Amino acid sequence: MYDFIVLGGGPAGYTAAERAAASGLSTLLIESGPLGGTCLNVGCIPTKSLLAAAKAYRHAAEAARFGVRAEGLSFDFGAASAWKDKTVETLRSGIAFTLKKLGVEVYAGRGRLLGGGRLALEDGREVEARNILVATGSSPALPPVPGLEGNPRVVTSTGLLSLPEPPRRLAIVGGGVIGIEFASLFSAIGVEVSVVEMLPEILPFMDAELVSIFRRSLRGIKIETGARVEAIEGGTLRYSKGEEKKSVEADLILVATGRRPNIEGIGLEEAKVAFTRRGITVDDCLRTNAGGVWAAGDVTGRALLAHTASAMGEAVVEGIGGKPRSIAWQALPWVVYGEPECAGCGMTEAAAKEAGIETKKSVLPARANGRFLAENGVTGQGGVKLLAEAGSGRILGLTIVSPYAGEMIWGAQSLIARGATVEELKGAIFPHPTVSELIREAALAL
Ligand SMILES: Cc1cc2nc3c(=O)[nH]c(=O)nc-3n(C[C@H](O)[C@H](O)[C@H](O)COP(=O)(O)OP(=O)(O)OC[C@H]3O[C@@H](n4cnc5c(N)ncnc54)[C@H](O)[C@@H]3O)c2cc1C
Repeated sequence: MYDFIVLGGGPAGYTAAERAAASGLSTLLIESGPLGGTCLNVGCIPTKSLLAAAKAYRHAAEAARFGVRAEGLSFDFGAASAWKDKTVETLRSGIAFTLKKLGVEVYAGRGRLLGGGRLALEDGREVEARNILVATGSSPALPPVPGLEGNPRVVTSTGLLSLPEPPRRLAIVGGGVIGIEFASLFSAIGVEVSVVEMLPEILPFMDAELVSIFRRSLRGIKIETGARVEAIEGGTLRYSKGEEKKSVEADLILVATGRRPNIEGIGLEEAKVAFTRRGITVDDCLRTNAGGVWAAGDVTGRALLAHTASAMGEAVVEGIGGKPRSIAWQALPWVVYGEPECAGCGMTEAAAKEAGIETKKSVLPARANGRFLAENGVTGQGGVKLLAEAGSGRILGLTIVSPYAGEMIWGAQSLIARGATVEELKGAIFPHPTVSELIREAALAL
């Protein structure tokens, strides 16, 4: 009998296993694939490794404006892929090392809940624990579009990360985070990229005012919004925009239309764990309806992000230790790793309006900032939007479009989570010259 068994070794699962073992619980981690889950193997890390190579290439190509001339510049996709693989391998062995050091037992294979605190392993054994965490993650969701299934020109994000060569023309179905990140990456290395999005705007979770700033920087990417994909024939993507029928030709088509929770074949029915199509049903402290069974990460459908998955994994271990804790759902930071980055936390203006909250806002262009201008010039696109509650001045949301936006947003998480006001933010001292000074400027402008 273990104290704790974790099903799934992604950010939610391996973080929970590490914390549990560190606090003295006997812990078994069951993982059918490579350690690190989607994030490390086919998500956050490989994309950012390739993006780093693509950015270096673009910066070199554009460096003449600083007086730096690179002759005979070329992009070696094979070398960039090797860089990506090495990064992933290094981090993966780091996770294996930490789990071993902390005494977590790892089973390489599938697991399935049986109910009553028991799980079946692929090798026929049964294991038992006082507490079980289901952290089986998510997989790409494919829309029912004729001509999509079995089409060798169609890939998901996983397929796109293991290409031997980049395509000449890439069409992307879906203008969400994954679609836009791949669009930025491939466009930066000279691939002709088209994005087809069904909604009226790309990145629909982001504050609309800053989406329009970001869109100005998506140089060379053809974006069609309000466009419904109707069929795929070979490399032809057919879609309709209102009454108009249109198509785009591509060598490869990425389908990035969202992800679905991995809830099938893991014994949720046998263990009587409640779930919906969107994921396993949990309360704010990640408890399922079944005693001793918890769920965390993408499989809950609550936030499909690696850092929220690991935060949920940590909260589960605290819950098992008798201190159930709700994570700050109203203050989950997110980043879109485009060129430049977009990052946000808290509410958008539209969401606040829908919730009936009276707001005040400040929107500043990044060009007013010394470091931004020094590095990007007057044509650089970026900005900051700070949203606060009208009467109290409580900070509701912050959105940033700029290089390093993802590195700046963590501060907003702690401010919003503890209900800080614009007055408090005004009192903070920011180093100069940094792009983050824009955040304080936005507070002063409010
Ligand atoms: C292309 C891409 C880019 C992304 N970029 C970012 C980013 O920049 N930042 C960010 O925050 N998020 C990003 N994400 C999202 C992030 O990867 C996920 O939110 C995160 O991996 C979720 O963690 P998890 O632990 O819930 O699940 P996962 O990472 O999916 O891990 C679940 C694990 O469970 C295992 N498993 C499933 N069923 C079983 C079973 N029955 N038995 C044993 N093992 C099982 C799977 O093999 C898998 O390893 C990206 C995703 C993609 C696809």
